[in-house]
Amino acid sequence: MSDTIVVNNEPFDLYISAVRIQDRVKELAAQIDRDYAGKVPIFIGVLNGSFIFIGDLVREVTVDCEIDFMKLSSYGDAKISSGQVKMVKELNCQVAGRDIIVVEDIVDTGLSVEYIRKHILAENPASLRFVSLLLKKDIAKTTAPIEYVGFEIPPEFVIGYGLDNAQKLRNLKAIYRQRPRA
Ligand code: 5GP
Repeated sequence: MSDTIVVNNEPFDLYISAVRIQDRVKELAAQIDRDYAGKVPIFIGVLNGSFIFIGDLVREVTVDCEIDFMKLSSYGDAKISSGQVKMVKELNCQVAGRDIIVVEDIVDTGLSVEYIRKHILAENPASLRFVSLLLKKDIAKTTAPIEYVGFEIPPEFVIGYGLDNAQKLRNLKAIYRQRPRA
């Protein structure tokens, strides 16, 4: 895949290569293995964006674990958050008394994470932590830290490795960022 792709006449430049992503995923998994030794966490992937990341992450993790998914909606097909989060698919697992690790593709405003935090804490987990491949640090307003972050990035629109452009291009192996307009 070339270093620049053009989507609807807009150039996107290669930002984080597939190799860098895979290296970082292995590091995050090693950290999680250390922190959860002897426990059986439930990884909860937030659809759709985290589907590739959680797939790669759980295959690097060696602790016994379970996997479930939830789906929120806040963006629709827009690039800017609508500011309103709603649950589109509920969890299927029992959260009470369990160690929960929520897996996000990217934390932007932090609204989704805060919504999920409240929702899961209401069910009394033994513990709750978040892992996000990407964090837009200058924008994110979360009340508690994201415990595991792959890469901190500036407030730019990125696609690939699960992240979409109007539902397309999630299947890119690397992450690309929209080139700022001159
Ligand atoms: P937040 O609630 O933190 O504002 O938004 C989180 C969700 O917005 C992410 O899970 C992702 O689906 C979407 N999002 C935020 N920033 C980007 C971005 O730069 N690119 C893409 N494709 N989606 C994003």
